[in-house]
Amino acid sequence: MLRRAGPSLRHFLLERKIGAGYSSCSSEVKMSRPVQARRLEGIDKNIWVEFVKLAATYSTVNLGQGFPDFSPPDFLKEAFVRALSRENHMLHQYTRAFGHPPLVKILAQFFGKLLGHDLDPMTDVMVTVGAYQALFCCFQAFVDEGDEVIIIEPFFDCYEPMVKMAGGMPVFVPLRPKAPEDGKLMSSADWQLDPAELASKFSERTKAIVLNSPNNPLGKVFSRGELELIADLCVKHDVLCISDEVYEWLVYNGKEHIRIASLQGMWDRTVIIGSAGKTFSATGWKVGWAMGPNRLLQHLRTVHQNSVYHCATVAQEAVAQGFRRELELYGKPDSYFIQLPKVLQQKRDWLVQSLDAVGMKPIVPEGTYFLVADISEFKSNVPDVPDSDEPYDSRFAKWMVKNKGLAAIPLSAFYCGAHKNNYNHFIRFCFAKEEATLKAANDILQKWKREKTSP
Ligand code: PMP
Repeated sequence: MLRRAGPSLRHFLLERKIGAGYSSCSSEVKMSRPVQARRLEGIDKNIWVEFVKLAATYSTVNLGQGFPDFSPPDFLKEAFVRALSRENHMLHQYTRAFGHPPLVKILAQFFGKLLGHDLDPMTDVMVTVGAYQALFCCFQAFVDEGDEVIIIEPFFDCYEPMVKMAGGMPVFVPLRPKAPEDGKLMSSADWQLDPAELASKFSERTKAIVLNSPNNPLGKVFSRGELELIADLCVKHDVLCISDEVYEWLVYNGKEHIRIASLQGMWDRTVIIGSAGKTFSATGWKVGWAMGPNRLLQHLRTVHQNSVYHCATVAQEAVAQGFRRELELYGKPDSYFIQLPKVLQQKRDWLVQSLDAVGMKPIVPEGTYFLVADISEFKSNVPDVPDSDEPYDSRFAKWMVKNKGLAAIPLSAFYCGAHKNNYNHFIRFCFAKEEATLKAANDILQKWKREKTSP
């Protein structure tokens, strides 16, 4: 019966299509109505898409996008291989939607200890596809049409489009640089919030503030005083805090990473966001998480269950094992969370020296694996395009990768449209790179400097 009905139904549909003008590709009728949803207006450009392509095409040394060019630790890779090859074939199938049980359990145990707060693994922790998805879930879960979200500049660029896609209004407040003492290099700690300016951004329309400490791109690690200022304003105005802490282990010179959720009145209103990509130098695994009280997390689960639903099981299993190891070694010299920042601090110091020597003044970061440098002294080298709307640092970075083979990211990419040109003479380098990569960058800069100074 079905076999006989098939061809005649196809024939009928084909005739209808031909009748409706869908005859062949060559005479296809194009849609005329606009297809793009309004919420995508103005957010189609993306700095990473643009600069990753440029780096792939032109760079010989890539200090642009933030990822290590060295391997994750052996214990983590071995955990992945074990998870893959174990008899438990269920590790190849879907796991619990809101997080593989071994991972949420160890995250709850590990961070509960650090936060001084009992975390229920099933309700207070959710695993996501990288920190990106945790952020996306937050904005979708909390932001309504017209809600304002305060973003501290410079900021990880996706916060702005994510707020807009949720229908919200980003409100920007810049960290303001103050000159360092004579003869000293500027530090990321010299970039500070103006307390009155910050307070003026809070209103009854404010739903949330995004905090990113340690901060990408500056490497600023917010001090207790700065966090208390933010916390007091959150409590006073009954505002949520989305705390992006993906670089929590990457702090230098004994600087302490303070979790804002541990401050008075903040636990109940904060979602903490983390990333195994940054924690274990495995950015391609895309395992992230959100943590906070069930009152908040339940809404993230609603977004997650209706969009992504599951994250890769094997990667979660391996990350769980990584955290189990780190819990045992916590605070001990063999802990990866002690060793990684030690290694990275040396790389930071090396790049600081290298940039300083050629006159590309570095802003010494207290955390993360990024370093922002002032390009003012190199300006004359790069052809100016006076009528271009594009910020100078962006043109500079493009010129640099095409002509010198060195990739970096313009700082203006981390500012809103209106403020981009206020900070257009800096570029960001990633120093989570092998010694050979950093040396190759140094060679390029040295050669460039010689060419600049030779008559
Ligand atoms: N937040 C910040 C501040 C970041 O720098 C990044 C990655 N560059 C993310 C979130 C996203 O992390 P993931 O790769 O885990 O999605």
